Amino acid sequence: MPAAPGGPRLLLRRLREAMAEPVSPQQRLDRIVVLIAANVIAEVCSVYVVRDDNTLELFATEGLNRDAVHITRMRADEGLVGLIAKTAEPLALSDAQSHPSFSYRPETGEEIYHAFLGVPLLRAGNTLGVLVVQNKTYRVYSEEEIEALQTTAMVLAELIASGELQALSPGAGTAARRPVSQRGVALADGIGLGHVVLHEPRIVVKTLIAENVEREMERLEAAIEDVRSAIDELVERGDGIGSGESREILETVRMFAHDKGWLRRMREAVQSGLTAEAAVERVQSDNRARMLRQSDPYLRDRLHDLDDLANRLLRRLVGQESQNGDGLPENAILVARSMGPAALLDYDRARLRGVVLEEGGPTSHIAIVARALGIPAVGEIANATSLCDSGDAIIVDGLSGEVQIRPTPEVEASYAEMVRLRARRQEQYRALRDVPAVTRDGVKIGLHLNAGLLVDLTHLHETGAEGVGLFRTELQFMIAERMPSAAEQQTLYEAVYSATGDLPVTIRTLDIGGDKILPYMPALEEENPALGWRAIRIGLDRPALLRVQLRALLKAAAGRPIKIMFPMVATVEEFIRARDIVDREKAHLRRHGYALPSDCRLGAMVEVPSLLFQIDEIAREADFLSVGSNDLMQFLFAVDRENRRVANRFDPLCGAAMRAFRLIAERSAAQGCPATVCGEIGGRPLEALALIGLGFRDFSMSPASIGPVKAMVLSADAAEVAALIQSELTRVTDGASVRPALAAYAKANGVPI
Ligand code: PEP
Ligand code: MG
Repeated sequence: MPAAPGGPRLLLRRLREAMAEPVSPQQRLDRIVVLIAANVIAEVCSVYVVRDDNTLELFATEGLNRDAVHITRMRADEGLVGLIAKTAEPLALSDAQSHPSFSYRPETGEEIYHAFLGVPLLRAGNTLGVLVVQNKTYRVYSEEEIEALQTTAMVLAELIASGELQALSPGAGTAARRPVSQRGVALADGIGLGHVVLHEPRIVVKTLIAENVEREMERLEAAIEDVRSAIDELVERGDGIGSGESREILETVRMFAHDKGWLRRMREAVQSGLTAEAAVERVQSDNRARMLRQSDPYLRDRLHDLDDLANRLLRRLVGQESQNGDGLPENAILVARSMGPAALLDYDRARLRGVVLEEGGPTSHIAIVARALGIPAVGEIANATSLCDSGDAIIVDGLSGEVQIRPTPEVEASYAEMVRLRARRQEQYRALRDVPAVTRDGVKIGLHLNAGLLVDLTHLHETGAEGVGLFRTELQFMIAERMPSAAEQQTLYEAVYSATGDLPVTIRTLDIGGDKILPYMPALEEENPALGWRAIRIGLDRPALLRVQLRALLKAAAGRPIKIMFPMVATVEEFIRARDIVDREKAHLRRHGYALPSDCRLGAMVEVPSLLFQIDEIAREADFLSVGSNDLMQFLFAVDRENRRVANRFDPLCGAAMRAFRLIAERSAAQGCPATVCGEIGGRPLEALALIGLGFRDFSMSPASIGPVKAMVLSADAAEVAALIQSELTRVTDGASVRPALAAYAKANGVPI
């Protein structure tokens, strides 16, 4: 192709002049398409704008029939223009008419054109329209031409987003502000209505076109230099790094700050006439598009690192520093790409109504903390930070995993109604707080709380739980920036005891490894971390770690009863070795004159299926058992509890699972060893009903489950359910579930499930 007269730099200058001219919006747009066509030597240049009915309207053209402007409208799935809008990617063809998506519009008179180049008009992740150039010849557009048109598209997108074009055709150009509904993964239950607060606010680049390219180049170089030295400083500071960012991550970021390809592309963008910040943004948006297409999680993470770096550069260039949690508005809904638990705890809890993340699975740390704080949260909303602007209305549904951005009044009203209904139901549960959990036939059921942070313990009083059935000590370790010292651990456990008063607490020793990584411990490369070096395995191999924790626990419990249990026990021998360590610690404390707990019971979690085949032995050795059904189901059925594709593949009420639970209930009872269920299953009313039928009498669950489970218990008849389950289990031989029969029973007998 002949070199464009003046190249992209001249075009950008001309566009800047056109933008400043005191003319009508239509005149401005008409002028812009003429400029672009002349600059890229194309016979046609057209702009299509997305309307709120999702059609694409021709807004201006040079070369096609002008009478078609504001008349031609394409459906979103129609033609090449529709394809570009849908894929949000450029499309270059030497012969457009032979493309299967080509759609001929007689009113535009475009049949004489062959070569076609279209790019999306993107802003904040939304496609606002499409910019097209066409040529009569069968020419091939070069990479540089595609890049230049994309740069031009940035300017047009700003023009559309400014709202100036609204007057030309009502309903057009509103794509950036359209309601958006997205479904991700439910992380923490609850519904939150509020307004977007971007955890790391997006930087809005206002000045796109350079007045002086040399000066912009200097600004870019200076910003790169600044960001590099800031990162060097962070790396040097080592363990002082905030919010759990590890040195390794920073080292990678540092490497990227020297990435030649990235730097070259930004410099080229400045050379083409963009300001330094627009150049960074331009390269960043390409990188983001690659990120969205990338399915390899490792490479996606690396692209995220690059994205972070671009943000740092942008902040430096527009002089906007990173915000912290201060000055949070009322009803804030945090939107972030990802966030550490410590960062969440920094925000003012009283003003937070929800969290939306682009990443983060249900068992991520942030999810655990959000649940503990009772903040509705949804993860895996792709592009969330680009889809919304600060202050946008937003609804987080932590039950279904849906997020409504800029909801319509109807959607908002229906959610508000749902919130009212839930509040009423919560009111009913609160009324049950002091009612003992006893079935209709007089069987007492113990309802305990799962906790892991001090904030969880406030729920003890609200829910009327009888105690803490599972205190996950690793959460404190996970949100700390370094390994808590012995004294810090003791202080924490003392605080736990003082918050629980006389109520019983079962504390679990560190369940780290697998997906629970301590940011300050060297990460191990393991093929199968869930089956790897974790929990009690680490405790026994590195007894110092376990000893420090046990000593802190025993000291903190001086004079009061204590229950300690060990996670991921696979053999009776492991339990006995752990018990020996406790005995040694007790002897040590006695020798040194410390007061010991008034009673010390040791339990094993039943979450590795091998224990099912040593159930009599472990029940004889342990003072109590606690069924970790989350892991037990994971290992029993070989389904990764975090992998959505398989996590719900097996019904925990199916024959195989029920028989496993029955074995535990029956054998522990025969050995006189109390057995509790502390996995998620116990917090679901129908599942808990089945377990009552199998003989379990004690459950530990998240705070929100206590009310619904208690309501179920009060109207259930344990003997009837036991008979039903036993008869179902003799019938169910094909792996089927007792769920339908049990649900029918509950319905017929008015048991709320
Ligand atoms: C379980 O596995 O069921 C359990 C309670 O432990 P966690 O969820 O902490 O692994
Ligand atoms: Mg577990």
